[in-house]
Amino acid sequence: TTPTKLDFIREIIADDLASGKHKTIITRFPPEPNGYLHIGHAKAICLSFGIAEENQGVGARCHLRFDDTNPEKEETEYVESIKEDVAWLGFDWGEHLYFASDYFEFFHGCAIALIEKGLAYVDQQTPDEIKAGRGNLQSPGSNSPFRDRSVAENLELFAKMKTGEFKEGEVVLRAKIDMASPNMVMRDPVIYRVLHVSHHNTGDAWCIYPMYDFAHPLEDAKEHVTHSLCTLEFEIHRPFYEWVIEHCPVPATPRQIEFSRLNLTYTVMSKRKLLTLVQQGQVDGWDDPRMPTLSGLRRRGYPAPAIRSFCKGLGITKFKGMTDIALLEHEVRALLNKEAPRRMAVLDPVKLVLVNYEEDRSEALQVVNNPEREEDGVRDVMLSRELWIEQDDFMEDPPRKFFRLGPDRYVRLRGGYIIKCVGFEKDAEGKVIEIRCEYLPGTVGQDAPEGVKCKAAIHWVSAQFGKKAKVRLYDRLFTEENPDGVEGGYESVLNPASLETRDAWVEPVLTEMKPEEVCQFERLGYFVADRRDHRPGEAAVFNRTVALRDSWAK
Ligand code: ATP
Ligand code: MG
Ligand code: MG
Repeated sequence: TTPTKLDFIREIIADDLASGKHKTIITRFPPEPNGYLHIGHAKAICLSFGIAEENQGVGARCHLRFDDTNPEKEETEYVESIKEDVAWLGFDWGEHLYFASDYFEFFHGCAIALIEKGLAYVDQQTPDEIKAGRGNLQSPGSNSPFRDRSVAENLELFAKMKTGEFKEGEVVLRAKIDMASPNMVMRDPVIYRVLHVSHHNTGDAWCIYPMYDFAHPLEDAKEHVTHSLCTLEFEIHRPFYEWVIEHCPVPATPRQIEFSRLNLTYTVMSKRKLLTLVQQGQVDGWDDPRMPTLSGLRRRGYPAPAIRSFCKGLGITKFKGMTDIALLEHEVRALLNKEAPRRMAVLDPVKLVLVNYEEDRSEALQVVNNPEREEDGVRDVMLSRELWIEQDDFMEDPPRKFFRLGPDRYVRLRGGYIIKCVGFEKDAEGKVIEIRCEYLPGTVGQDAPEGVKCKAAIHWVSAQFGKKAKVRLYDRLFTEENPDGVEGGYESVLNPASLETRDAWVEPVLTEMKPEEVCQFERLGYFVADRRDHRPGEAAVFNRTVALRDSWAK
């Protein structure tokens, strides 16, 4: 790999190692298990796990930590899917798998330490009073009437919160910082609340739960994380992150650094919105191939290395922006162009009869597997008298620039003979239902004979040997470039034609492909054997990963 300029985070890390501030580097990826990971998360994963990989020499590592301190929205299904997706992307957390909920005792101890230092108090105002008391950006807040309770009283009340003597919303524990701070986050943030909810890990052991802003720095410190990398929306929370680290009895001093999140055109990137699509049945589950989730992209046939190289190309900065989804598609095509074997499939079939080819004759043609990779060799494709070709490869009255089939015109069957159209038949509605051709003997692998104008090759499947397959064609899930930016909201710009299903004819080898194997259907795009529905030899189901044409212009 060519040495490139380090991004600002990698520069900080290199400096911290060079100066001896840190002997090793520990990062973490901290998903909340309340949904499936999306392509935005891939950017964060590639950054934190990538930095650990690059610093293997000093024993660096990246933790996979489930930020599961909020009992209300979390499910074990999500924990499993997240582990699967991170591993699929190609990263290994080794033995460093953690659950923030395992630290509940530690958080609780830190809260008590703050109370003892006079830095936290139990507030018995109503939620509305607390909100009103915080003021706004134009005016300072006002102190709670409970702000100056004694340490002893706070300890006693906090103990009662823990033993369940308060209802939800009756009391909270707040950090005592500054109600006049220009940063709203610093106006005595709530650090513990009462929730009579059982937790997927700790069951009913707790009825008080820490707030994210309090728990997160403590989780990082507990794990000796050196650099805690997160997205820009946490920038205004950083002073509180540092406050917690400064005042709590922690074993390490992690540093939070923010970078800009990934936003992609024609995509929404929020677990909440993606969950809504799933719940409303707009898509067929979290791993629907139209979803920007990692499991959706996987099922769509996007190779993990293409996603990683896309993330690498994004760069890490603090600039807010929108990335063209064509760039991601470009990475997928570039990789598949090199690796995917070429196959033939007809998605919109019309019958073609080779009238001068004997009824019971057939032959194996040797067709190139991948022109980009000679070592992939050739395969046998069976030719017979009756074939399927695409409807739109024939025109009764073709315009000048149309080089495929029409009356008296020549075309080459990919890997086979040149053929000449000698007739066709239409049904009552005027639709072409059969095309009749003569093949030109001796033209396999040979130039067109004198006087024969043949400027194109079309793909085809033998009607005798071909097999049936279900093929799903996908389009963008949203019709607008920025679905979140439109007046009616993203739900108003769902593309009603994002999925089209075809009954196709395919080469027999395609039915034997393993789920998740990808190939190119010649002239049509890259397709993957569906991870869930394709069963070799029994049911052939393909998803179009991406069309052939690249709209990404550098
Ligand atoms: P969402 O807003 O989609 O629900 P989240 O940020 O709440 O996502 P978390 O599970 O908290 O999801 O995210 C884990 C990590 O992934 C966080 O450190 C977060 O900063 C990062 N992350 C989330 N979305 C993006 C994105 N679009 N680009 C880069 N990093 C992201
Ligand atoms: Mg979150
Ligand atoms: Mg978020």
